[in-house]
Amino acid sequence: MKIDILKKLLLVCTFIFIFFDSANAAPPYGGTIFHFPEAINSKDPSTFLEIKYEGQRQREMFDRRRNNWIKNSAYIFNAIFSDGSNIEIQVNSEFSNKENALGFAAKYSKVIGQLPEILRKDVRTVWIHKGNNLFGGGNFNLLIHTDKGDEYISEGILEETLIHEASHTSLDWSGISKTHGISKGWIEAQKADKGYISDYAEDYPNREDIAESFLPWVVVRYKADRISKKHLNKIVKAIPNRLKYFDLQGFDMRPLKLVEEKQDSKTSQIRSAFSSFSLIDRKRIQGKLSEYGYEALLDGIWGPGTLSAVRRYLSRNEIESSTGFELVFKTLLED
Ligand SMILES: [Zn+2]
Repeated sequence: MKIDILKKLLLVCTFIFIFFDSANAAPPYGGTIFHFPEAINSKDPSTFLEIKYEGQRQREMFDRRRNNWIKNSAYIFNAIFSDGSNIEIQVNSEFSNKENALGFAAKYSKVIGQLPEILRKDVRTVWIHKGNNLFGGGNFNLLIHTDKGDEYISEGILEETLIHEASHTSLDWSGISKTHGISKGWIEAQKADKGYISDYAEDYPNREDIAESFLPWVVVRYKADRISKKHLNKIVKAIPNRLKYFDLQGFDMRPLKLVEEKQDSKTSQIRSAFSSFSLIDRKRIQGKLSEYGYEALLDGIWGPGTLSAVRRYLSRNEIESSTGFELVFKTLLED
């Protein structure tokens, strides 16, 4: 009898454990920047075009070595990118001469040009100091300490760290562009995912969740051929709703290319069929897909959300490509 009660108790405990486990799964990573060194590497294309020296000017910059704002007669450079954006690079006068400062300004501009366009959106300035201190994002700015930068370079995670920091600046800065972290869609995705991608995101959900989750999304959607299946599965399992949230934003991700576009001829056929329609018809196609439960942005632009909607529509309706995807879209329009 006693044993029976014990067994029942044990069973109850097990259920409670399972319940808590699924209610809030442990994050798969401590911090996401350390795990995908190949997301962007030094050989990947950059939109950085040229850099111009503008002279030494007085600027207010944040310096983590003092954990405070400083006034500095910084070397000023104007970095120009092929998408039309330009960024003022402010290099601390401690770098002694403009040639030395130019070396660092150009080196970091190239990497900033490798980030997707959406992440440069609100980056107006870059601060470059010496020191082995953490980078930073926000303030319409990216904060760089070059000794720490050298460390990131040797670990192969400079680009990934800047993806994280630029996510703060352009997607989640509480001053101006905090549109995503507090949006209804994001909060619903957080709830639906029942957990976080990293301990860091879990510890600072309001500040770090977007920045910690954006890099894994980039990896899954654009660089899946560069990570192991194990990593891929971990991410997709931990934050499927956050991934979908990013899918639906219609971000300008140039110069990155969707993994499917590189690898899969079916996807490029679907894409070119979609692109053969007028903007109005492309919007209507997306509208029809959404109407049938395959959610897509209604902007007429090809992106991961539309791709995913079309793929799900095709597979659930068991439509083969033999008829040609243009005909599939035409039929959809006529429905
Ligand atoms: Zn952060």
